[in-house]
Amino acid sequence: MSQYKLLIDGKSVDSLDTQKTEIRNPANYNEVVDEVSVGSVEDAKRAVDSAYDALKKWSEQTPRARSQVLLKAADSLDTSDAKIAEILTREQGKTLPESLNEIRLSAAIFRYYAGLAPTISGRRVELSDPDETGFVVKLPVGVTIAITPWNSPVVLMCVKLAPALAAGNTIVVKPASSTPLADLMACELISKAGLPPGSLNVVTGKGSVVGEELITNKKVSKIAFTGETETGKRVMSLASRDVKRVSLELGGSDPMIICADADFDLAIDAALISRFRNCGQVCMSVKRLYVEKTIFQRFLDRITQRIAKIRIGNGLNPTSKMGPLHSKNQLEKIKEQVFDAVNKGSKINYGGSQPNESEFQNGYFYLPTIATNVDQNSKLVTEEVFGPVLPIFEFETIDEAIEKSNDTQFGLGSSIWTKDLDKAMKAASKIQSGTTWVNSYHEPQIDLPFGGLKESGLGKEMALEGLENYLETKAVVVNSKGKKRRWLD
Ligand code: NAD
Repeated sequence: MSQYKLLIDGKSVDSLDTQKTEIRNPANYNEVVDEVSVGSVEDAKRAVDSAYDALKKWSEQTPRARSQVLLKAADSLDTSDAKIAEILTREQGKTLPESLNEIRLSAAIFRYYAGLAPTISGRRVELSDPDETGFVVKLPVGVTIAITPWNSPVVLMCVKLAPALAAGNTIVVKPASSTPLADLMACELISKAGLPPGSLNVVTGKGSVVGEELITNKKVSKIAFTGETETGKRVMSLASRDVKRVSLELGGSDPMIICADADFDLAIDAALISRFRNCGQVCMSVKRLYVEKTIFQRFLDRITQRIAKIRIGNGLNPTSKMGPLHSKNQLEKIKEQVFDAVNKGSKINYGGSQPNESEFQNGYFYLPTIATNVDQNSKLVTEEVFGPVLPIFEFETIDEAIEKSNDTQFGLGSSIWTKDLDKAMKAASKIQSGTTWVNSYHEPQIDLPFGGLKESGLGKEMALEGLENYLETKAVVVNSKGKKRRWLD
């Protein structure tokens, strides 16, 4: 065992109260992946102090110099992708190819923001008074806290780190308590790419303890959070005490609307990938599927045949297409949501339970599941379903499908499938979500802003907008000709 520690001031250190915890494999909870130090409030304070002290040194480096460090960090992530991916699969549960994709996407995000760092610039503005000149300048926000979830811990951390560092901020990361290992491994590498000590710190520990200390610490200026909507509301209220900057990437209940004229096979593939990758634990997974009445039965038959072929298993096993749920909590929540739907009259067309085979008994496995006749008031509709369960509904008119799609507090992603692009564009403007994909499935795209409407979030990640998250805009007015002014002149 290597025993993972905290990263503070460029050094790997034990927590001050020397507390440790075991991280276990969701595919086999008897397997201890490793031990990790658990951070305390005092650790959070010293990490913030360290980030605060490093701010001057890092923010004063030229954008081009910061860009070079980010490029080196991307190279380090790529070089160690297999090592990080293995630990990610063992602590999180997703399959190895899914983990590798995550690390490679993380490296690509670092490269993207390395490219943008030298483009950070303000502008000169002509003012109505010709003796004065105005400037708009962009400045780093300051010490930034990145709080991340367990479902895709590395990429959701890197999508915060890369733009924040590119903009000249320093950071403290608080990874999810159950997935700190891959994040710590990645941050060690990123830190060694040439960051001044203290520019990047990692403090593990409980959100309600370490997370809240970080958010309320007076030296902190910005919180970048990804997690559940309810936690996001708490984060926002704590941050509001000092009017700290917040960006929130929260839960989703993405609808997918499949019209009768859609490319049938493409739509089936997309629904399968989108709902069942990472065992359904993706914020922008399709979580409610609406199929036009005339193709409903054919669609249901085909997708049911296809999900029967999804091989579940330990993510390290090359034949596994879907790993386990991440934790006992997740398993219990999914069981409860399916139970509730069945109680309200829903039919389970496939799955609906844990697998029986002995090889799955020590893991949090759940069968890929399809439900129909689902009541609009059941938890499969009213809550975010963060697992491999797909409720399928039929619709008669596109307006009906849009209305049902919008009948939720969430507004993260959505997709519409039709060969009629005019219909697609009209629908896209009516569906209340941060992204609408047309005849395409939910792939993260670095150069487009991603984020939710309604209770799915605030602010955007990725793209230019993702960099803006970490910059303050300031106006400077210069009396360029030395003109004198007198009181009430
Ligand atoms: P969570 O809200 O339970 O935890 C997220 C992080 O917040 C963890 O690090 C946790 O320790 C910390 N935390 C918990 N309580 C806190 C508090 N009081 N103060 C500060 N920090 C606190 O979420 P989760 O279960 O880890 O992640 C799953 C959720 O994340 C899902 O709802 C999913 O949709 C969402 N998510 C959203 C996106 C997006 O881009 N919109 C991406 C991935 C995941």
